[in-house]
Amino acid sequence: MDVDKRLLPADKRKPKPTDENALGFGNIFSDHILKIDYTPAQGWHNARIEPYGPLSLDPAAMVLHYGQEVFEGMKAYISTSGEACMFRAVNNYERMLNSARRLCIPDFPVNDFADATYELIRVDRKWIPQKEGTSLYVRPTIIAVDPHLGVRSSHDYLFYVIAGPVGAYYPEGFNPVKIYVEENYVRASRGGLGYCKTSANYAASLLAAEEAHAKGFTQVLWLDGYDKQTIEEVGTMNIFFVIDNTVITPPLNGSILPGVTRDSVLTLCRHWNMKVEERNITVDEMLQAQKAGHLNEMFGTGTAAVISPVGELVYRDQRIIVSNGRTGPISLKLYEELVSIQLGKKPDPFGWVVKL
Ligand SMILES: *Cc1c(COP(=O)(O)O)cnc(C)c1O
Repeated sequence: MDVDKRLLPADKRKPKPTDENALGFGNIFSDHILKIDYTPAQGWHNARIEPYGPLSLDPAAMVLHYGQEVFEGMKAYISTSGEACMFRAVNNYERMLNSARRLCIPDFPVNDFADATYELIRVDRKWIPQKEGTSLYVRPTIIAVDPHLGVRSSHDYLFYVIAGPVGAYYPEGFNPVKIYVEENYVRASRGGLGYCKTSANYAASLLAAEEAHAKGFTQVLWLDGYDKQTIEEVGTMNIFFVIDNTVITPPLNGSILPGVTRDSVLTLCRHWNMKVEERNITVDEMLQAQKAGHLNEMFGTGTAAVISPVGELVYRDQRIIVSNGRTGPISLKLYEELVSIQLGKKPDPFGWVVKL
């Protein structure tokens, strides 16, 4: 797929942030955007890298009314030897294809979309921050653009990728998070959109997250919508437990998001010959394990944080402290290994890192 480049002249480019300690998340965007159009007659066509700027959309564009969209989140970063890299981007595009199929969005060529994304990152390479732990967050999106209010799937689509520098997730080292076990609201249920990265799942989650924040929690732990017992995932992360040295995570049952980081963690644990189980785990089992002193660690996994240790959990009126509120050894080992592979400090036996 040829990508046409209509780049900003050097004197029109934005100043880059000077303080890499104050990047935050999702506030700053690079100079360019990648766009690819879809029409039934032409398929995916007109791949181009243009100056970053507002989209022109008809107010009737179907995405704005019926939420027909999918997105992804991944990182580009500078390795220890100074090379621009991305981590498992093809896996993100494979997941995006699965999300797209559920949302009636036409198939796209996974490798071509990944290659076009690498092209965008090469163009905006100077936007990748340097400081260890910072990265250029990359956000591919597909939206339905037909101006039409009858409910159906759109005929035409726009794929685009934007990117922006983001700060280190743990500027002062690991901070275990506090999590609220959500029994009232449901994020997704089987047969729904849970396994898709799509805006509707986030729309469904906002109120629960706001209420949890107001009570002093970082995120909510989602439960199965029917039994309100089987654990699914945390706000924007998959969830893992270490019970008696077995690493346990809920199976991909259709209502949880198949995280790329989740897969990396499972792959590493199996590579290390640890006991790993992808199986259902209920709140009761977790509570009993904790009371018996067998719940050694609990952590979330996701692209942004990589590993996010859980130090405390609240279920109804019970407060559960995990690992004495500190980071457990397996959480730490996984974090260090994944980050070392990403940065090229350690070998990459699974071929996860792409040098741009
Ligand atoms: C993106 C996401 C994850 C984590 O996926 P990664 O590929 O590891 O970043 C987990 N849960 C939800 C709901 C997500 O949207």
